[in-house]
Amino acid sequence: MREYDLIVIGAGPGGYEAAFEAADLGMKTALIEKDAPGGTCLNRGCIPTKSLLHGAERYRAMKESEAFGVLAGEVSFDLARMQARKRQVVVQLRTGIESTAKRKKVDLIQGTGTVAGPGTVLVRDERDGEERLKAAHILIATGSVPVKLPIPGTDLPGVVNSDALLESEKSIGRLVIIGGGVIGAEFAALYRALGTEVTVLEAMPQLLPNLDREMAQSLKMQMKKQGIQVCTGARVEEIHRAKTGGLVCAYSLEKGQQAERAIAEADTVLVCVGRKPCTEGLFAEGAVPETDRGRIRVNGRFETSLPGVYAIGDVIGGIMLAHAAAAEGKNAVRYMKGLPPAADLRFVPSCVYTDPEIACVGMTEEEAKAAGLEPESRKALMGANGKTLLTGGDRGYIRAVWEKKSGKLLGAQMMCQRATDMIGEFTLALSAGLTREEMARAIRPHPTFSEAITEALR
Ligand code: FAD
Ligand code: NAD
Repeated sequence: MREYDLIVIGAGPGGYEAAFEAADLGMKTALIEKDAPGGTCLNRGCIPTKSLLHGAERYRAMKESEAFGVLAGEVSFDLARMQARKRQVVVQLRTGIESTAKRKKVDLIQGTGTVAGPGTVLVRDERDGEERLKAAHILIATGSVPVKLPIPGTDLPGVVNSDALLESEKSIGRLVIIGGGVIGAEFAALYRALGTEVTVLEAMPQLLPNLDREMAQSLKMQMKKQGIQVCTGARVEEIHRAKTGGLVCAYSLEKGQQAERAIAEADTVLVCVGRKPCTEGLFAEGAVPETDRGRIRVNGRFETSLPGVYAIGDVIGGIMLAHAAAAEGKNAVRYMKGLPPAADLRFVPSCVYTDPEIACVGMTEEEAKAAGLEPESRKALMGANGKTLLTGGDRGYIRAVWEKKSGKLLGAQMMCQRATDMIGEFTLALSAGLTREEMARAIRPHPTFSEAITEALR
């Protein structure tokens, strides 16, 4: 029986980063993966969506290039080639993970892992059969899978989740997206840029319900401007096939205290109503840790209720983001070794890759007030930013929030070009506990979008 210091189940960003950290700290480590290394993030999430969005953005930019004096002639796109490019990027990154595992002497084992008891993991693989492994520590990093919508019609051909749509090579005439969360917003941006008629049906009164209301409102306006139909307060209750062949989504639309019935028709329906922890078959009888609505419960050191068994990433719920999973994975390993955490999990930036991009970190003004603080904020409008004007960018803003008395930064919300890159500046400042004046003191180059950060901090 092979023995390890640590067995990690799941090679997504949480699992592989944890395994690499463990190897760096001298732990003999195994990393078990039932599918492809890289997890949701690399194979069905962050990288594939952003690769396709980048292609769509190039297409849009080329169509609009005449305003910049660039005459491109007739512009078209080929989704099959966009998909091929996406696959090339994914394979390159996956090869990177596999070779890093080899270099760090992490045993990457193909198979499905089951926790048989504290310190024991069973690995099953169709080709290699079954193997029992032992370890002092086990880390669960099995991620999440799409939630199925419990309504009639979701099994109809043409009703898909994000995993399936990310593999599609065919152009879509009409797309209805059920769920105006992060996945819904990004797929709407992608397909609209490729010329599809897109309708987003969101049950809650605003898009991206976890986001600041002002930002969600601005996003709705921008999406409508781009020709995307956005219906909020629209709860989809059924999908059926029309006689004409299209798919019909029947929804109830909140109108004040009343609810109206309405329909939206499409060729393809994307269901993206959230993700749930992946724990099916993960624990043998008698070795099941405490859970809370399907999420594995952990303490502040990522320990589950089973001795020696830890869990991180999407499987524990909370912030379901790749960089959060990676940071939790590294911290969990360091806790196992009695070391201080490597990453500051108090401030996790979150980004939405729409047009314009959205990025937030820390508290909004409302959240700070709700926490009993006395905040102050300032919004810099991108309409006055030179780089935004010269690149033909849309209206947008950067808002900085700080504590009035001390000037200590509390958070930032951005909706503008390159917001997802610039949010790192605020994350660093928050983590370092900087005040507004300290952050404003740094010189930002001209002309850049980042000059608006200084403007927001003034
Ligand atoms: P995962 O990445 O889900 O990895 C878990 C791995 O465990 C999988 O490979 C799975 O096959 C394996 N596994 C499961 N059970 C077993 C078992 N019993 N035995 C062996 N292996 C097992 N996040 C961002 O930060 N930025 C983004 O832009 C972004 N875009 C996204 C776009 C989409 C469409 C989706 C769906 C998600 C996106 N996310 C994004 C979220 C991000 O992908 C997840 O938060 C992240 O992948 C979670 O990492 P993880 O390591 O916890 O789990
Ligand atoms: P989500 O929780 O962000 O959004 C789901 C939405 O579906 C909610 O707004 C909900 O109100 C709505 N909904 C539920 N039932 C409905 C119904 N019957 N009719 C209409 N609307 C309904 O979930 P998601 O968009 O599936 O994304 C899952 C996770 O993936 C996110 O939480 C996020 O962590 C991650 N993700 C991150 C990124 C990023 O970081 N850029 C991108 C994509 C996904």
